[in-house]
Amino acid sequence: MTARIIDGKAFAAKVREKVAGHVARLKEEHAITPGLAVVLVGEDPASQVYVRSKGKQTVEVGMNSYEHKLDADTSEKDLLALIDKLNNAPEVHGILVQLPLPGHLNEDLVINSIDPAKDVDGFHISNVGLLGTGQKSMVPCTPLGCLMMLRDYHGSLSGMDAVVIGRSNIVGKPMAQLLLGDSCTVTIAHSRTKDIQDVTRRADIVVAAVGRPEMVTGDWIKPGATVIDVGINRIDAPDKGEGQTRLVGDCHFDSCAEVAGAITPVPGGVGPMTIACLLANTVTACCRANGLSEPE
Ligand code: NDP
Repeated sequence: MTARIIDGKAFAAKVREKVAGHVARLKEEHAITPGLAVVLVGEDPASQVYVRSKGKQTVEVGMNSYEHKLDADTSEKDLLALIDKLNNAPEVHGILVQLPLPGHLNEDLVINSIDPAKDVDGFHISNVGLLGTGQKSMVPCTPLGCLMMLRDYHGSLSGMDAVVIGRSNIVGKPMAQLLLGDSCTVTIAHSRTKDIQDVTRRADIVVAAVGRPEMVTGDWIKPGATVIDVGINRIDAPDKGEGQTRLVGDCHFDSCAEVAGAITPVPGGVGPMTIACLLANTVTACCRANGLSEPE
C-alpha cells in the first residue's frame, strides 16, 4: 500500500474538542448553551443508530440535545407542527430531521419548513441557494467534513481537478459546489456518465458518493490522487462467520490504496466527520442567532 490514510476518526475528535471549547465559552461568557433538536419519524434501524450517536456526541461536547421520536404513521400536519414549535423555541439553535422519512411524508415540504437559520443539515432550499451563490449559509455536514479533510491534507485546493461521483442533493451536488468554491475544476459523474473510469482517472481528487459497494477500483485512480470515500455499505462477510456483515465504502480500499496518494478508510473516514460537522454547525447557528462572532 502506498497511500497515506486520512484518519477521519482522529480529525473528528479534534473538531469535537474545538466545538467543546466554543460551547464552554458560550456558557461562561454569555450564559448560552447551544441546543440541537433531532427529529426521528419511524423505526428505521440505521436512522435509530445515527440519532443515538448524534444525541450522545451532542451531550459530550456540552450542548443540550432534544430528541423527538415520532411514530412511523405520524401525519404531516403533526410533524410540521413540531417543527414550527422547534423553530420558535429559543433554546433550540439547530434542527435536524433524520432522513429518509416514511413514504407518506413529503421530504421537501418538511425540510423547507425548518427555519433556514436552524437548518444545521443545510438542506433547506435557501441554504442550497446561498451555497450555490457563494454566500454565507449552513453547509451540509458530510460534504463539509470531506472539504475539511481535503483542506487539511492539501492546504490549497486551487486549480486541482476534482471528480465527484454521485449527484444527490445531500452529498454529490453540495460537494461539487464546495470544491468549486475552493477553485477546483469540478466534474460530477453519475449513473449515465460515459467511460466513467477515464473521467475519474483524470482527477487529482476523487470523492465517491454512490452507494455501490467497492465500485471504484485502483485502475480508476490516477497515481497519487486523493480519494475520499463517502459510501457506507453493509455487505455479507461469510469469512467472519455465518450471517456476519461488514461495512465497506464505495471504493475498493486495497486496490485504490495501492495507487492513490491518500485515502479515507471506511469506517473511520468521512462518517465520524459528518457528526462532528453537525455539532460545529449547531455552534455556528447558535452564535449567529445571538449576534456573536462565529467559530472559524
Ligand atoms: P444517492 O443514492 O442519493 O445517490 C447516489 C448517486 O450515485 C446518484 O447520483 C447516482 O446517479 C450515482 N450512481 C449510482 N450508481 C452509479 C454508477 N453505477 N455509476 C456512477 N454513478 C452512480 O446516495 P447518497 O448521495 O445519499 O449517498 C451516497 C453514499 O454515501 C451511500 O453509500 C450513503 O450511505 C453514503 N453516505 C454517507 C454519509 C456519511 O456520513 N459518511 C452521509 C450520507 C451518505 P444517478 O443520479 O444518475 O442515479
